[in-house]
Amino acid sequence: MLTLTCPYCGVKADETELAPGGEAHLKRFGPESSDDDFHGYLFSRKNPRGLHFERWRHSHGCGKWFHAARDTVTLQVFGTYPAQSYAPPRDIVKAIKKRHPDWAWEASA
Ligand SMILES: [Zn+2]
Repeated sequence: MLTLTCPYCGVKADETELAPGGEAHLKRFGPESSDDDFHGYLFSRKNPRGLHFERWRHSHGCGKWFHAARDTVTLQVFGTYPAQSYAPPRDIVKAIKKRHPDWAWEASA
């Protein structure tokens, strides 16, 4: 069972109390962008085996959206943080680097 701590209300919520929202940190492309960029924004999502940044909503709690950094293979959770963040906070980056030393943050293209 996946358990995530809501960064807003601090509740440790089981997966059944949360609603998944897909990949986090998507770069948004509007209708004025190229067809390829707009198509990619609408339909292309990463589905990695390992480290992944995801959006979750505390649907049976405070109702707010947040981001989670976790490993999809081991279910290790590196941390959760507010959805308004453009990048994971330092403490989460540090936790990720401890497990994945070669990893470096890069925003979605
Ligand atoms: Zn909450």
